[in-house]
Amino acid sequence: GFQIEESEGAGDKALSIPPDLATCAECEGEVFDPENRRHGYAFTNCTACGPRFTIATDIPYDRQSTTMARFEMCSDCRREYEDSEDRRYHAQPNACPRCGPRLRFVTLGNAVALEREPLRAAATLLRSGGIVGVKGLGGFHLACDARSSAAISKLRERKRRDEKPFAIMVRNLAAARELAELSPEEEALLSGVERPIVLLRARPSAGLAPELSPDTPFLGVFLPYTPLHHLLLGKVEGPLVMTSANVSDEPICKDDDEARRRLSGIADALLVHDREIAMRCDDSVARVISGVPTLMRRSRGFVPRPMMLSTPVSRPILACGAHLKNTFCIAVDDTAYFGPHIGDLESVAALEFFEEAVERMQAILSVRPEVLAHDLHPAYLSTRYALARVAEARVGVQHHHAHVVSAMAEHGVDGPVLGIAFDGTGYGEDGASWGGEFLLSFPERYERLATFRPIRLAGGNVAMREVWRIAYALVDDAFDGAAPIESLALFDAVSGEARGVVAQMLERDLNAPAAHGVGRYFDAFGALALARPESSYEGQVAIAWDVAADEGAHEPYRFELDESTTPPQIDLRPAVREAVGALLAGASPGVISGRFHATLVEATAVVTEQLLGRLGPLPVALTGGVFQNSTLCSGVQAKLHNKYKVLRHQEVPPGDGGIALGQALIADAFLGDKG
Ligand code: ZN
Ligand code: ZN
Ligand code: FE
Repeated sequence: GFQIEESEGAGDKALSIPPDLATCAECEGEVFDPENRRHGYAFTNCTACGPRFTIATDIPYDRQSTTMARFEMCSDCRREYEDSEDRRYHAQPNACPRCGPRLRFVTLGNAVALEREPLRAAATLLRSGGIVGVKGLGGFHLACDARSSAAISKLRERKRRDEKPFAIMVRNLAAARELAELSPEEEALLSGVERPIVLLRARPSAGLAPELSPDTPFLGVFLPYTPLHHLLLGKVEGPLVMTSANVSDEPICKDDDEARRRLSGIADALLVHDREIAMRCDDSVARVISGVPTLMRRSRGFVPRPMMLSTPVSRPILACGAHLKNTFCIAVDDTAYFGPHIGDLESVAALEFFEEAVERMQAILSVRPEVLAHDLHPAYLSTRYALARVAEARVGVQHHHAHVVSAMAEHGVDGPVLGIAFDGTGYGEDGASWGGEFLLSFPERYERLATFRPIRLAGGNVAMREVWRIAYALVDDAFDGAAPIESLALFDAVSGEARGVVAQMLERDLNAPAAHGVGRYFDAFGALALARPESSYEGQVAIAWDVAADEGAHEPYRFELDESTTPPQIDLRPAVREAVGALLAGASPGVISGRFHATLVEATAVVTEQLLGRLGPLPVALTGGVFQNSTLCSGVQAKLHNKYKVLRHQEVPPGDGGIALGQALIADAFLGDKG
């Protein structure tokens, strides 16, 4: 028996550590029942709910291999645990106020506790505009009153979080309905056992502070998923900002000492407890994109849920993922496992978390892959990790090919497909930045059939923040050096000297690399039409441009397909000239954005039709971060789905958080029977 079980491999072992599960209705009921022995107890759970992955220290998953090992069950809890009829039978984190973890309220700096009881002390501080670091399942959140402009501004300032939107937690579905009109799919996502943050279009009348989300009407909303959250929200009685506790883009805090160190100066107090977090696991993020629930970040609640592969891999593979929004993936036999969301691999702390999470997932799966898949970009920390680690084989995978194969894998399609991969950037075989790609894709190879005419980025990465540079290059190219720069409001905000430097860079082709990413067109058009010279974070102006579009049908601008280049390029210069003309004639940004989106949809559909006219009716995969844009995604789908099978992402993120799966399958297919 033992032998057979062993050979069944990693799949079964991983299943023995499930993802974390949101508090079930019965446990929630007990927590609010004054007669129940768990009344007010923040660590209540049962076999249907509670922490799992985030408390597991080893396999197999039993109490001794979790951070609950140090708590001796009392006789009542023990009885429940051993009674096969009880709903807490073998609930590994089972606990009660007598024997289990306890809350503690710790003030930082000059703050004082006005109450003795930790939950009340936290609620009182929150209601008076304070910031509290709250220890959750996979890490700390920073909490404050979501209706208080002052509290949110203070948090933004202390956290140095530019202008990125903050997620908010509301008490229940009814409270979520007050903030936004919910579709049935959105309700299902919000109340699902995984409890992701769900992006919703907020009602203007929602009563929330405008500082929550300065650029977009979309708000990240989620429901309580631990008894601690339920109790806290119950006491505060209003929506709370609950944002991952970190500074800038470092990994989420998980230990009490670490929180005290890293969050002093940000939080006024901490609401902590003595159940340790074994594995950091940030919140997942989802959105319904034209009717389809789509994960944008796959982490808490989903990790380490296995994904079945239609074609098993021949050897265990670790795929190291991309650079931004990094997640890695381990594929074994017929199953793939994503690790938790690591974030942007830009700091030592993030790389350490990446390594720690890889080690942990390997331990859980009892596997140490000898084959490593990585991005082609030589400077990515994920690439450097792969190159430094001892391995039998390493396979460099093109970024957009990986995006497409991730979409194929999610649908069990072995190829070939026409992959349409639109994003901000990804390293191309020619060393250029790609991101407007039409790829005939197989698991082991691809052919680049078309792309977008590139925009040059004067100053390289500087242009990501100073997006006016991208706009400058766009109009300069479209008007062949005779652009009406002086007439465009955008450039009023830029000094003549800075403009001169950029003009020189473009003219002499100095530090002005060409980028094919569709995301750069969003930056450039958004900067121009909204007169916004800078992005305070990656994609800020692009997002503002996405949501700027007026609803309804719009006429596309003109565009061309330039077949004199290899591969052919979608040339939007006619569209740029029309849009600039409209802008100067006083057209509204809403109309220009609507027509811009219509142009992208039309160009994508025309090129797809042309390519598939030649190749035959292959399935079409829509992938890459730009396809999180619902106008574009639904527009392209509407044009194609009657003729072709359209593959869209659901549980694998369309953005860079999803590419590790494709990397793993490409590496395996590439090696074939070798290696
Ligand atoms: Zn329960
Ligand atoms: Zn107990
Ligand atoms: Fe990408």
